[in-house]
Amino acid sequence: NEGLREALANQKRRQKRGKPLPLEQPEEYHGGAVFWSPRKVQEARERLEQKEREGEQLQQQRSEAAKVRRAQQQCKARLIQERRVARAEARVAKAKEKANQAAKRAQKKRSQKAEKLLQNRIKLAKKDAKQGSKHPRKAIKKKKQVAEAVGNGIVVVSGYPVLMSSTNVETDTTDVIICGCGPTGALLSANLSRLKVNHVILEREAEITTDPRGIAVDEDGIRIMQGVGLYEELFRDVGKSMGVFRFIEGGRGLNVAPFLQFDYSTIEGGTGHVGFLCHKQPAMERHLRAKIDQTYGQLRSSSSVVAISEDKGNVYVDYEEGSGKLRRIRGKYLVGADGKTGFIRKKYLEPRGIIMEKSAKFRYEAVWVALNWHITLPTPESHPDFPLWRLGYTPEEVYDLYFPRDFNFICDPTRPSVCGRFGRTVDRLWRFEFVVKPGEDGQKMATPEETQKIIFPYLTHPGRRYVLTENVAFPADCIKCIRSRPFSFSARSCNNWSLGRVILCGDAAHVFPPFGGQGITSGFRDAISLSWRLKIAVRSDSADYQALFAGWAAERKQQLERSLASTIENGNFCNEPSRIKAFIRNWYLWVYQLIPSWKHSLELGGRREGMTRYDY
Ligand SMILES: Cc1cc2nc3c(=O)[nH]c(=O)nc-3n(C[C@H](O)[C@H](O)[C@H](O)COP(=O)(O)OP(=O)(O)OC[C@H]3O[C@@H](n4cnc5c(N)ncnc54)[C@H](O)[C@@H]3O)c2cc1C
Repeated sequence: NEGLREALANQKRRQKRGKPLPLEQPEEYHGGAVFWSPRKVQEARERLEQKEREGEQLQQQRSEAAKVRRAQQQCKARLIQERRVARAEARVAKAKEKANQAAKRAQKKRSQKAEKLLQNRIKLAKKDAKQGSKHPRKAIKKKKQVAEAVGNGIVVVSGYPVLMSSTNVETDTTDVIICGCGPTGALLSANLSRLKVNHVILEREAEITTDPRGIAVDEDGIRIMQGVGLYEELFRDVGKSMGVFRFIEGGRGLNVAPFLQFDYSTIEGGTGHVGFLCHKQPAMERHLRAKIDQTYGQLRSSSSVVAISEDKGNVYVDYEEGSGKLRRIRGKYLVGADGKTGFIRKKYLEPRGIIMEKSAKFRYEAVWVALNWHITLPTPESHPDFPLWRLGYTPEEVYDLYFPRDFNFICDPTRPSVCGRFGRTVDRLWRFEFVVKPGEDGQKMATPEETQKIIFPYLTHPGRRYVLTENVAFPADCIKCIRSRPFSFSARSCNNWSLGRVILCGDAAHVFPPFGGQGITSGFRDAISLSWRLKIAVRSDSADYQALFAGWAAERKQQLERSLASTIENGNFCNEPSRIKAFIRNWYLWVYQLIPSWKHSLELGGRREGMTRYDY
């Protein structure tokens, strides 16, 4: 027992002794006798500590590597999830689009059917009238048929046939009817609200169109929106200053020095606002609609205008609700703000001689593809191999490099294009528009295969710029295409902007190519100067409304010339097809801009000549 106890005590003591010191030199040490002097012991301790430190470092490295792996996995999972969500959203959007198309087709069919029915009834009525004089007996029979037709929903007001019987149809009354609640209709409504004019807006779509078409509104547009109480909202929710318009040569990337630039980031020479607001059209329309005062204005969505008629003191508008129900509204005036292919001009005024005419000054007509992209910022976690992280760039700096803040007009004789951000910076939206050349198919050019060929060279930077051997492309998986489709652009305006009690404004009366950002603002100008005239016209039945509207159109046409001039100026720089002429022009501008005051005057852009002065 005694022996056993001693053995156990010895073993315990041995265990307490701790780790053996590595007093032996490493293997490569072959130097003679070994002295375990205090220094050696100290060195041995240091070696032990060193080893432990290395162990810890290794452990740390491993855990960091595991962290990075985990982050990568999470990021990958997030990307997969995002893609899944995007696919699901795309599916829903497609289904919605399909349903919309089907509804539109059904509606078109119904309108065609109704129109056919109407034509038949008119023919029948005419025949009846003719035969009535020749064969009185037959006439009685036919008359019966016409009476039936009237019972079926056809009525003639002042000789003009409309679709519905006033007995069966719900009819209400207002002072002004507006067809279309795009930017023009919404701004007109907001102004009529301020002037306390009763009105109803009929809008075909159930919701605001989500496709951002216009992206630039000039300072006059900002001023007009401020007039209906929108300002802070514009720079908070809708967009930001568009900055500088840069005219650059093609094929050399987006960061090359411009041969000419218009500085619209200042208020110099203008109305006190920055030159242009770079906006998201649906957000702007939402805010405009919020300024419609329900006391005076009522917006009826999902209401498609299908027929119009007038008598001495009124205009009657028949419209179809989303449910398919037909209704009628009577007003003193009808404003067609229903866009460039709208019903009011096409179906009602064109047969009466009002047509869209091409501008004699700017015979521009072309198809452009317009793309909207949403950009996600790449990060070191999501794209660890992206070379610019090694050089210390942050995700935000990378975004600025590839999608510059200012707006670029790419004056490439082979493929004129424009591009820039739109909406708020946080929206990360980007527009690229390029011309479709003769012989090319617009639809095909809007496909991802074709657009990538045209746009990606601008999103690939030469490696030498960063002292790298390989070119650096912006990660393609950070780009989501929201819309890509061809549009026809031309400069046209109507020969008359009103007839009787029916008036056209906005795109329904005039259209512009996209180079001057004048489409929306021109509609705003129409609306603001029409609103007070409508107020006068509805106040008194004796008002000479035809003279009022003729004066309005004459006033508007003066300004339209200015809008067209600035559009032409930008367009001509962008669309010069001759390389030689472009080369000479660029050199001329370079020399011209050596004189600072001349350069400054050029940089004022459209503000060079001050604001529009009206002769009448
Ligand atoms: C690709 C592209 C880029 C553009 N870029 C710019 C730009 O940068 N700056 C700029 O200022 N402009 C730009 N524009 C033009 C701009 O979008 C238009 O000028 C503007 O939308 C016109 O507004 P509007 O209200 O007159 O017509 P629209 O916006 O066309 O609105 C018409 C409304 O009427 C409704 N409607 C149509 N028919 C009926 C009916 N029968 N019954 C009831 N409602 C009906 C429609 O649903 C629609 O809501 C661009 C256009 C395109 C296509």
